[in-house]
Amino acid sequence: MNRQEVIASLDVGGTTISAGIVSTRGEILFQRSVPTYDLGRSDCVLLHIMYIAREMALKARERGFTLLGVGLGLPGSVNVDTGTIGYDIQNIPELACFPLGVILNNYCEATTVLDNDVNALALGELYFGQARGVRNLVFISLGTGVGGGIVLNGEIHRGVNWYGGELGHMTLNPNGRPCFCGSRGCLKTYVSGPDVVAQVKERLGEKAAPLLLNLCGNDPTRIDAEQIFAAAEAHDPLCQELLGELVQNLGAAVGNVINFLNPEMILLGGSLLNGNGKYLNSIREWARRYAFREAFEATRILYASLDKNTSILGAAALFYHERLRWRGKWDRV
Ligand SMILES: [Zn+2]
Repeated sequence: MNRQEVIASLDVGGTTISAGIVSTRGEILFQRSVPTYDLGRSDCVLLHIMYIAREMALKARERGFTLLGVGLGLPGSVNVDTGTIGYDIQNIPELACFPLGVILNNYCEATTVLDNDVNALALGELYFGQARGVRNLVFISLGTGVGGGIVLNGEIHRGVNWYGGELGHMTLNPNGRPCFCGSRGCLKTYVSGPDVVAQVKERLGEKAAPLLLNLCGNDPTRIDAEQIFAAAEAHDPLCQELLGELVQNLGAAVGNVINFLNPEMILLGGSLLNGNGKYLNSIREWARRYAFREAFEATRILYASLDKNTSILGAAALFYHERLRWRGKWDRV
């Protein structure tokens, strides 16, 4: 019998856990999403993740697939060798410093690989998305936070102690907005969803925002990023100003990345820009101004093909990539 080889895959975010079963060719064979903090069977987010990971592993085996292992992406730094989460997991602080890899190895009875979620997305694009065949790729994800994944010569660049790719914390303005990381003027503080909302609220009253106030029912506490994009589309002056700055700051960051790494491809993903082509062209135009001309011209700047519905492909690609890399070591385990 030719049993299909599959990976149990999880993308753990601050609001949603996407879980599924993915084949080694990148087909999603089963998928479901649950809220990270609607814990149901447990009052502990760690147990919640364990239950869902095991459910995927059991389902894969019940359906007659050959389960190769578990891949998991989450929003923070991860020691990929030990499967231990770093202390900087801002959106799910309960998991800080936790050895989740070892726990899932035992609980799912399957080899588990976990890593930063944007590293996983970069690998997802490399194996199953539009970056197939690309050797040098940078993925920038914009949502609640801003993350980066860097692929150099076909390998994820994780750095000496797993902080490689923290592009959201590149300094754009040394005296700029304070960031949770302790620094100031980080890219994140200008372009993440919550920071865009915060900047709009700070400037309400300085500049007219009639459409935005209409959308939030004249209650500034209800303003969200989606309303700001919609109001800017309808020429709301404050929202247009803010998004103009967002696009310039992101373009400057992309220009920096081009000058640092001279990659073939930069992919912009995450929930914030929602694939809006108008912004992509503006970001490219700003990046052109901040980068060496020949380096800029060699870089394809595109929106990511993996979105929240297909993010588990990233976790599957992560597992597959590490399995290929450590094949010799794992075969002896
Ligand atoms: Zn920062």
